Amino acid sequence: MKSIKGQGAAACPNCGENFDAEFWSLVRGDADAELKDSLLGGELNLISCPACGAFFYHDRNIIYFDPPNELLAFVSPGGDKKDFEAVKAKMKRDFKTLKENLASMNISYEPFYLAGLEELKAMLDYEAAAAAQSEVIAALSAQLGFKLAALRRAGARVSGYPFYLPVDGGAYTREGLIKAAQAVLKQNPALNMLETFIKDMQAGKELPPRI
Ligand SMILES: [Zn+2]
Repeated sequence: MKSIKGQGAAACPNCGENFDAEFWSLVRGDADAELKDSLLGGELNLISCPACGAFFYHDRNIIYFDPPNELLAFVSPGGDKKDFEAVKAKMKRDFKTLKENLASMNISYEPFYLAGLEELKAMLDYEAAAAAQSEVIAALSAQLGFKLAALRRAGARVSGYPFYLPVDGGAYTREGLIKAAQAVLKQNPALNMLETFIKDMQAGKELPPRI
């Protein structure tokens, strides 16, 4: 499934003019870099009134979808925080519909419900930081002779873990994971996501699901 463009009625908040306008309803974050940039830049679904020239957002929610990363977010571009509970209720219904329509994609993770582009930016900043730490972990693991386990991203994200973990030998065990993670962390103490993982494992939390 690609990014999706639609057409719908818009009403100018400045002069009241009603007209039809195109809008993007779904952006594939993994495939459409230009759309992603324009969404983050606040230009996506920004329309201008043909009567008075005023600029405003099409009041449709935008779905940000990045399936390889198990990342799905419903974004209200205007960021109307006051009525967000009602907006969120609609987003939840939309998610149910989307999940049913895309049954073959087997979306087994929860989406994010975001009140505005700032929240989307914060989410994608976190994503970039997690990807960067994961790359460092992969490189250090190779140096230390560890294998890598790729985690289910949706679960790793919610727990604050990196996307890859070093594995000593073949066994995916608590003791082995802690030991390998500690060895990598020793090489680079700035890997705070690995530190979070070690603390959780030492506290007896469940091992995260792998791909
Ligand atoms: Zn107008």
